[in-house]
Amino acid sequence: MRIAILRCPDYDEERVFSAVKKAVELIGGIDGLKGKILLKPNLLGFYHSDRGITTHPSVVKAIAKLTKSFGGRPVIADSPGMGIPYNKESLKKLYKTTQMEGLGADLNYNTEFKGFFFQDKGFRLISLVGEVDSVINIPKLKTHSYTVLSCAVKNLFGLIPGFDKLGYHSTLPKIEDFSSMLFCLADVVQPKLTIVDGIVGMEGDGPSGGVIRRVGWIIVSDNPILADLAACRLIGWKPEIVPGLSERAKLFDRCEWFGDEVMPISPPFRLPQSVAPWKRFGRYLKPFFTAKPVVSMACIGCEICKKTCPRGAIKIKEGRAMIDDLLCIRCYCCQELCPQGAILLKNSVLAKTLSYLVEKRIYRR
Ligand code: SF4
Ligand code: SF4
Repeated sequence: MRIAILRCPDYDEERVFSAVKKAVELIGGIDGLKGKILLKPNLLGFYHSDRGITTHPSVVKAIAKLTKSFGGRPVIADSPGMGIPYNKESLKKLYKTTQMEGLGADLNYNTEFKGFFFQDKGFRLISLVGEVDSVINIPKLKTHSYTVLSCAVKNLFGLIPGFDKLGYHSTLPKIEDFSSMLFCLADVVQPKLTIVDGIVGMEGDGPSGGVIRRVGWIIVSDNPILADLAACRLIGWKPEIVPGLSERAKLFDRCEWFGDEVMPISPPFRLPQSVAPWKRFGRYLKPFFTAKPVVSMACIGCEICKKTCPRGAIKIKEGRAMIDDLLCIRCYCCQELCPQGAILLKNSVLAKTLSYLVEKRIYRR
């Protein structure tokens, strides 16, 4: 297992290409990546790259150029967040808004899906996964209100087609189970390379409602878990903060490191408000210590959150969303997918205080 981390201060196309190329060479090159290659950026929704939510086009372009120089045929593919159906019309709009057109790679419009298996693990994924010779995972470095970190492993969730994602939230309401599922998914997909857009990231209430933060790094690894561990180190977090990651932290001991000296960002990335110390108080007290989603006046009653909620906790009344607190399992899908940014996360004063103390003493490096 290998990892290379290189500085890259901005999205200047030449600089990005040079950083990506050098990092890929440091971990052994991509000679083996021939044929059709699925490029999997984070295309969460209809967002311009300026919002810091989706993988920047210059990173995708650099990877497309690199794979082509080795004779590969890159195809960009993703299935966006749960509120958006996985069909040709959505994909057309998605590629346009996220600036994926004209990057030197084909765009996937095949919306079929099928089952993929590895050992005893199985997932229904977009069918392109089975038609390519390899997958290159291109996540954005962000926080996530539910999984805490949205980077290499979480990015692969986008290979699950459209509304199928909803089923995982509703059948796996505990974050530990949901995270285990994500690690299983990484085993099934087995991306040959992960190249993290860590030039500009998002902290706080990601993956769409946080605050943009300039980080200035490109991470390249042959292992997505290793890429997530490195991302944590860069943003000043201990792996313990990300569900399922601390058990895998030993990967660092077995890997080869290349590239620039890693200096964690200071101050560390702000955690999502949802990361509360409820684990210490038991699951029945969780609702009192976790941030609850609250609908603001920016709501336009579009119903996306209603369709997204795995627990049917949202109703639209008089043109505005209303959340039933008792049904809500704090998965934050509604906050993630609201196109208006109208769902905010709100903590009680007690939860805020405890979060601050726990975050300061336990999680940050
Ligand atoms: S909260 Fe957001 S997603 Fe839900 S109805 Fe309002 S605008 Fe639409
Ligand atoms: S209302 Fe609660 S359960 Fe429904 S999507 Fe939002 S956070 Fe999840």
